[in-house]
Amino acid sequence: MEAVTVENNSTKVAKRELIKAVAVIPGKPNTIHLREVPKPAVSDVPNGRGVLVKILRVGVDGTDKEINAAEYGAAPAGDDYLIVGHESFGLVEEVGPNVSEFKPGEYVSLTVRRPGSSLYDAVGTYDMTTDDTYFERGINLRHGFLTEYIVDEPEYIIRVPENMKEVGVLMEPMSVAQKAIEQAYRIQQRLRVWRPKRAAVMGSGTLGLLATLVLRLRGLDVTTFGNTMPPTLNSSLIEELDARYISTKQMSLTDASAKYGPFDLILEGTGYSPLVFEAMNVLAKNGALAMVSVTGGSRQIEVPADKINLGFVLGNKVAFGSVNANREYFETGVKDLSTAELQYPGWLKRLLTHRVSGLENYEEMMRLLTEAKGSIKVYCQVAAVESRQTSAAAI
Ligand code: BGC
Ligand code: ZN
Repeated sequence: MEAVTVENNSTKVAKRELIKAVAVIPGKPNTIHLREVPKPAVSDVPNGRGVLVKILRVGVDGTDKEINAAEYGAAPAGDDYLIVGHESFGLVEEVGPNVSEFKPGEYVSLTVRRPGSSLYDAVGTYDMTTDDTYFERGINLRHGFLTEYIVDEPEYIIRVPENMKEVGVLMEPMSVAQKAIEQAYRIQQRLRVWRPKRAAVMGSGTLGLLATLVLRLRGLDVTTFGNTMPPTLNSSLIEELDARYISTKQMSLTDASAKYGPFDLILEGTGYSPLVFEAMNVLAKNGALAMVSVTGGSRQIEVPADKINLGFVLGNKVAFGSVNANREYFETGVKDLSTAELQYPGWLKRLLTHRVSGLENYEEMMRLLTEAKGSIKVYCQVAAVESRQTSAAAI
């Protein structure tokens, strides 16, 4: 490997090995490429708090598609490129002298957001920032995880039990589902008692499937909507959780609500924003609607405003938005992933439909992400998932 001279935080000049990374030039469409970047070092984080993680797997989703289409995403200050990838899974390789939280050989996943300057950022809830600028690794103003090694602080790293290593790459999408659902329950503490019975999940991709799982683990009767006719892998996975799959080609949310509702909790994650208003219209009294779609477009529609408003007022309903997740939701997420593995063995692994081997196959990864029929999670196998024993012995 070639080496490069870089300045690190303590302005000491060090020889750095070069590693591979998958990046885009934000603002220019279809610029995804492989490049060499200096290998990060634990000393990049001040006060001996660095954790060096060897990346094993990175999942990709619609956000990566939008970033490569130059519809979203920004490079870190001083760089004209952005290393993409925000769904991480890796192995701790080295820790700084003041890190007691992690040991080499442990499997981990990392949060995506990094704090800004608001009060919410100051207390670890950077996912709730009120700043206009937000920092997200692999998305906005911070480099991501589609590379061989990354360094970060323990605060942003969550341990994944070794027996979950096959599905650890689902941690980030799981955290997004966890946050939305947990937020609904917390908001509903405004009611002295909230015993939601029926939930609707709009969308049956990775997020919809994981949200269905979380709600089933909480004991709700779940109806999940997709836009493809069953049977598909997605519809079977939903039915195996004893949830109901409905194709919106067969039945609308409004009709399904009349038949299987009313829904006390609706989670909208399809990316098709008009559904939000349909959901508002049919939400149960005292119900909660969680909106999680990041819709970058400018769609306009007409809505029955009086009717929706009246229903909300007379029914004491609530609608809220939920973005990203802090470490708390990764922690509850990993517990639910573990419970799921016990309750529905092998179910999670079936979400990992398309593996791409090696960072150099980024073109195939984008092709699968945009074209693959029947895909749920496309991910890049950056390095082999070894057993902890082997890797510890190797150190
Ligand atoms: C990511 C979130 C992020 C959101 C908005 C999603 O794809 O999973 O972590 O907050 O995009 O940038
Ligand atoms: Zn995402």
